[in-house]
Amino acid sequence: MRAVIIIGTILIFFTSTLSVRDAHAQELDPYQERMKLYKKVETVTQIPWYYLAAIDQYERNIRLVRRDLPKPNSLTGIYFRPEDWAGLTNPNPLDESPSIIQFFNGLGVDGNGDGKASQKDDEDILYAFAKYLLSYGVDHDNIKIGLWNYYHRDRTVGIIAGYAKIYRHFGRLNLDKQVFPVPLYSNHSYRSTWGDARGWGGRRIHEGTDIFADYGVPVRATNYGIIEMKGWNKFGGWRIGIRDINNNYHYFAHMSGFSKDLKVGQIVEPGKVIGGVGSSGYGPPGTSGKFPPHLHYGMYKDNGITEWSFDPYPHLAKWKRIERFNLKKKK
Ligand SMILES: [Zn+2]
Repeated sequence: MRAVIIIGTILIFFTSTLSVRDAHAQELDPYQERMKLYKKVETVTQIPWYYLAAIDQYERNIRLVRRDLPKPNSLTGIYFRPEDWAGLTNPNPLDESPSIIQFFNGLGVDGNGDGKASQKDDEDILYAFAKYLLSYGVDHDNIKIGLWNYYHRDRTVGIIAGYAKIYRHFGRLNLDKQVFPVPLYSNHSYRSTWGDARGWGGRRIHEGTDIFADYGVPVRATNYGIIEMKGWNKFGGWRIGIRDINNNYHYFAHMSGFSKDLKVGQIVEPGKVIGGVGSSGYGPPGTSGKFPPHLHYGMYKDNGITEWSFDPYPHLAKWKRIERFNLKKKK
């Protein structure tokens, strides 16, 4: 009897803490909280929220794959090195005094008005980056110049500009849906071929997954993203590159052709048909049929310095699982 009471008490305790936690999680939806922060800084600085969101997301992505930077642990992803925040010649790299930081030309500012320029405060951090950009201007071209002077890397500026375009297009931060690159009902097969010496469209080793399907089977964008590259390549044939906001560059090769009106710089969403399965490549433009038709799917990440490929197979398998589950749910 006593055991039953104890178990009952434990159960009540657990269910009550769970519901409290659920309510708390709802209250602190990070996308909502971030959007609030971006809009707040936009109001003060006139820098559009989607640029702030793009910079923040880029920095968060970079920190997740870099060992020399601390992992993101708050609402903002932006990271300032202490010496950049406090000023290079400031004897105290952890200085939080706005006036002293300003004296040493540090980037740190007091964004939330509490008298401190703190790297522990999201508003201070985002406002500091916005203030840096403000010295260049608030229109697209000047923001790009400001970003170039900050990062000194064309690819980084391009990636951030792409993120900004994606956020602006959709008007929201939550863009996490994914689908499998060919329709689930289509006849197709694929297996893990990462690093195989054989395979088509890779570099030295096979950098991707080959999805075998018939000519013309629709090829679909798998993520929310921006078309960064489109055209012919001697090995890849007709190929297309799409960058998403989660630091993935998706490479589709050997296609039979592209969907009409598809342009570089265009924003796509998961499921958007971008072309068809083919066997193009391994010769001058238009070469086809040197191997069985398939979609070569590659994935790449960037860490702000260099880009590398990784095995897309586990991701493809996951997207397929989730898509199948969602289709069943709808029925
Ligand atoms: Zn391949």
